[in-house]
Amino acid sequence: AMAEAAMAAQVPPDEEADECLREYRHLLSPDLLAGQVAFITGGGSGIGFRIAEIFMRHGCRTVIASRNLERVTEASKKLVAATGQQCLPLSIDVRQPQTIVAAVDEALKEFKRINILINGAAGNFLCPASALSFNAFKTVIDIDTIGTFNTSKVLFEKYFRDHGGVIVNITATLSYRGQALQVHAGAAKAAIDAMTRHLAVEWGPNNIRVNSLAPGPITGTEGFRRLGGKFAEKSSLFDMIPLQRAGNKTEIAHSTLYLASPLSSYVTGTTLVVDGGSWLTSANNFTALLGIASSSA
Ligand code: NAP
Repeated sequence: AMAEAAMAAQVPPDEEADECLREYRHLLSPDLLAGQVAFITGGGSGIGFRIAEIFMRHGCRTVIASRNLERVTEASKKLVAATGQQCLPLSIDVRQPQTIVAAVDEALKEFKRINILINGAAGNFLCPASALSFNAFKTVIDIDTIGTFNTSKVLFEKYFRDHGGVIVNITATLSYRGQALQVHAGAAKAAIDAMTRHLAVEWGPNNIRVNSLAPGPITGTEGFRRLGGKFAEKSSLFDMIPLQRAGNKTEIAHSTLYLASPLSSYVTGTTLVVDGGSWLTSANNFTALLGIASSSA
């Protein structure tokens, strides 16, 4: 019955861990991104890993970049094995512009082009504002917001200014209703959604499209395990979501594929919410969230 329901809802399959899909049925042309190169920050794990895989399954070559070189190297081996496309793993810290400059130089040396930037790198945890240190708030702003600006600016200067390009910023819906215990990430992601509009306006004439994608609760991710897993298991959280379930990484990757591809050629400066309608109806349950925060601390 579950399988039948999933088929009726047309939910694409996913794998829990940072592993490639065992089978994949193309909904779009397999050459949708043929000849293109995507630079994906946070591409070694979770949502970023699946975005890399789905892009590669559509003919794209990828650069996956994050702090942990071992992690992105392992990930790239799996991605290449599953898709037969090229994937270059590189170490960057988005808080340090010179590391981004070095990585983009190396990527351009290897592939001669970069057409797509996915800003997926982020850090998050649950914490009440009263217990959040000054430094903890700053760190999240540094990685999410400033990291997104740093990476976008380097790509602009090194390639997009002269050749055009597409930027997709992975944000969140946390600020829409002032999610408890998330002032740091909510503020950081809201600032990125603003940046999306500012850069879409300034860089539109350079043939650069800039959009945000805001996921809801997504299974098989560090974010879900840390921020919602226990809550989701114990309560009827999913009953509150209009589509009655969490989303999966493949679904986020498919929506990101839309924003990165010529399918969305006239879409810029917008935020695509991919959350099953969750933010409209889910309770901002402070007590339950505090329960998770203290048990995971
Ligand atoms: P994840 O696996 O923890 O992804 C975060 C990635 O960012 C990691 O690969 C990490 O790699 C990288 N990263 C962290 N700090 C970095 C830095 N300073 N420089 C470069 N890379 C850095 O978590 P995820 O849940 O898949 O999240 C992916 C994106 O989706 C994030 O932007 C997140 O905010 C967003 N999102 C997720 C959910 C969800 O339900 N999971 C919901 C809404 C939004 P290293 O440790 O190797 O640096």
